[in-house]
Amino acid sequence: MITFYPGPSKVYPQVADYAAQAVRDGIVSMNHRSPGFMAIVERAFALLREKLALPADYHIALVSSATECWEIVAQSLTASTSLHPSGGAFGDKWREYAHKIKPMIAPNLADTLCVVQNETSNGTQVSMDTLAGFRRDFSALIAVDAVSSMAGIAFDWILADVWFASVQKCFGLPAGLAVLIYSPAALKRAQAIGENDHYNSLLFLHENFSKFQTPYTPNGLGIYCLMRVLEQVPPIAEVDALTRQHAAEWYTFFERDMADSRFRLLIPPTTPERPATRSDTVIAVSGSEADISAVKKAAQQAGIMLGNGYGNWKNTTFRIANFPAITQAERDQLRDFLRSYRP
Ligand SMILES: *Cc1c(COP(=O)(O)O)cnc(C)c1O
Repeated sequence: MITFYPGPSKVYPQVADYAAQAVRDGIVSMNHRSPGFMAIVERAFALLREKLALPADYHIALVSSATECWEIVAQSLTASTSLHPSGGAFGDKWREYAHKIKPMIAPNLADTLCVVQNETSNGTQVSMDTLAGFRRDFSALIAVDAVSSMAGIAFDWILADVWFASVQKCFGLPAGLAVLIYSPAALKRAQAIGENDHYNSLLFLHENFSKFQTPYTPNGLGIYCLMRVLEQVPPIAEVDALTRQHAAEWYTFFERDMADSRFRLLIPPTTPERPATRSDTVIAVSGSEADISAVKKAAQQAGIMLGNGYGNWKNTTFRIANFPAITQAERDQLRDFLRSYRP
């Protein structure tokens, strides 16, 4: 079975060997405050900096999920409340979680802008140009959920103070680990707020991770596999070019080869009047409930797992992950299947 599910998604096949090695070499049994383990965290950080081209002064912490990052932004980085210009299910969920912790009293008091760079639920993305506009117009902190795009496309990191992603999407790793990247301004904000009441308070995380340690026993297997996968992947500029090329191929395929099918791209092409941008990493395809359900079933029988729709688009779309771990042969196989599928 090959999978195009946009999370959890296909993991790099090499992860099987990395995981076996982590067990065989006793890495998963290492004390997380031992020099050997700290060296793995340090190397994973150095590789994140190098491969993702992070600004030298941005900090890194590792936590367990993007959902945890939503809460960290609210509890440790938001003084009054946060704004959430959302266009989809993940943005809505983030707003809900954040406002439970820091209720929306008055929008003009908001000191944190929370942006979902790639809305996995409907295949839209916020371009770096749009983010630059936010940066110009909003003087306070900007936090970006980049769960389904980090390690898949390149970002202009300085356009936001906080970026986070769990690793079960573009990183091609099993779930249970998330990368949290934050700027000096974000750290300053955390210090000004002084929130240190939780095991995952940003100040406490920062104190630990500056020594390559963690406040709690971490997902050592995940961190080791992250380090190994980062060793193997090309620099983000190269990955970015490939991701965009593959996305363009998917969009052309649906517009041209599938023009006579019953399926349509959910998001129309981007124009100046329609700034919502099609995602480069998640392609959402719409159809009637009956057609969507039938094509998913037929694909499954052909050994191909399509992503279900999500949120409002649950029954009227399927989604195709365009993540780096997916191979050309797999994309060709799905295109061959769709080309010959005419119910
Ligand atoms: C998958 C996803 C999440 C949730 O990630 P978890 O690791 O399950 O917390 C959040 N935001 C976006 C945009 C996602 O695609």
